[in-house]
Amino acid sequence: MARSVDEIINDKKVFYCVECGKCVAVCPMAEVYQEFAYELSPRGINKRALLGFDVLDILKDKKIWFCLGCTACTEICPAGVKYAEFIESLRLLAIKEGNTDYCVKCKRCGDYYIPTPILDNMRGALEKMKVDSQFLNLCPECRRRNFAGMLGTVYGNMVSYDGKPVIGDSKEDDNIGRVS
Ligand code: SF4
Ligand code: SF4
Repeated sequence: MARSVDEIINDKKVFYCVECGKCVAVCPMAEVYQEFAYELSPRGINKRALLGFDVLDILKDKKIWFCLGCTACTEICPAGVKYAEFIESLRLLAIKEGNTDYCVKCKRCGDYYIPTPILDNMRGALEKMKVDSQFLNLCPECRRRNFAGMLGTVYGNMVSYDGKPVIGDSKEDDNIGRVS
């Protein structure tokens, strides 16, 4: 893991940005978030980096937690800026520095797996569809494990591919994602 914000900026080629705006044009955040603004966009965050981040500020800033990680910006960037990796590296460094207000951790294994703005958005969408969103409390790996546990109740005991238990430690955990 990168040791500093400067190291991440260099590694992900943020200084190569020529401010063409193509990343903003393809970014789906504008359609996903009502509160979307230039300051949340890849170009907006890059510009702050180019002007010189206040390192402590940026690691505490909610704005780095909105990117959906789709990599469309990275693919279209003519300058080779690896924006999706840049933002995820900033988040991991923020967590390492103890800034965990905007990261969601799996209720079972405790690993960070998704930013709060993305999860809130998914919950909102599922509520509109009247779908139970409890399974979002688990990271994808634990969700798969739960699913394996459910299959186990149908087909007999199953051994997890990584040696971890396929069902949770509590009844509550085991029921997440089950269809009654
Ligand atoms: S597409 Fe690349 S060069 Fe253009 S504004 Fe975005 S990051 Fe900068
Ligand atoms: S990776 Fe993030 S910033 Fe880039 S296009 Fe996707 S949502 Fe937008």
